[in-house]
Amino acid sequence: MVKLRIAIQKSGRLSEKSLQLLSDCGINLSNGSRTLLAAGKNFPVEILFLRDDDIPGYIEDGVADVGILGENVVLEKSTELKILSRLNFARCRMSIAIPRSEEYTGPQYLKGKRIATSYPKILQNYLDQNNIKADIHEILGSVEIAPSIGLAGAIFDIVSTGSTLLSNGLKEVEIVLKSEAVLVGGNNMTEEKQQILDKMLFRMNAVMKARTNRYVLLNAPNENLDKIVSILPGMKSPTIVPLAEEGWSAVHSVIGEERFWDIIDQLKEAGAQGLLVIPIEKMVL
Ligand code: ATP
Ligand code: ZN
Repeated sequence: MVKLRIAIQKSGRLSEKSLQLLSDCGINLSNGSRTLLAAGKNFPVEILFLRDDDIPGYIEDGVADVGILGENVVLEKSTELKILSRLNFARCRMSIAIPRSEEYTGPQYLKGKRIATSYPKILQNYLDQNNIKADIHEILGSVEIAPSIGLAGAIFDIVSTGSTLLSNGLKEVEIVLKSEAVLVGGNNMTEEKQQILDKMLFRMNAVMKARTNRYVLLNAPNENLDKIVSILPGMKSPTIVPLAEEGWSAVHSVIGEERFWDIIDQLKEAGAQGLLVIPIEKMVL
């Protein structure tokens, strides 16, 4: 039987969430993450556990069909891979940082400077776009200590909270790229594999939508219903059910997380009571 081969990170920041996503898609694996290869028990996939840096090459060589990895690694390592879906986890940014004592005067500050990074290709693109000539010094790890030991005048690296920069006496001066985990694929997929992929993508979308939305139940006096309905975004229109108590109704709706608290505040102000917020498991539209 044909199986779609999915490469995921063996151990690191992406591993657990990649496995969780597959599991939320109802894909159960036979033999954990301790082996190199695991099979789907109830879905035609095989999972290859690799270092994230190796995933693009495995897909380009056709050993794996798709993979889950940081967009930053995709951009650095490959030009051939296509992003099939953004996955909404492992968010980080890639930034340029310089010693805190220095005055930053804009991108031109970097002219002629030596910049340490593990991502020379993305950095070179950024410098070219801004017409800056600088000396890129590639190192594999501990990029953030390069300025303090006199190896470089600036760095280009992944930032998530900024605390590593701070403790190394650096400040972030340019955000070059915003990254998150993505599902990527190569160019030559057979019809059968494409069908498995489409089925998996359908499930992934349902899982991701559910993660970013909440089901909300509330009670409202009937005279405030129009106002409350106008505040709710909802998939179509909210469900309104009369309560046993005369003059009151229950309203059910779905709210996205980006404006969630904002909308909750407005609902309370409009007379909503007994608000219940419930996580959604899957959302198929
Ligand atoms: P491997 O051993 O597989 O090569 P790694 O050390 O290169 O792992 P991780 O540190 O596990 O990689 O990070 C994997 C990805 O997680 C990064 O490429 C990036 O897309 C994302 N990420 C999110 N937040 C951070 C962060 N704070 N630091 C590093 N990577 C982050
Ligand atoms: Zn890596």
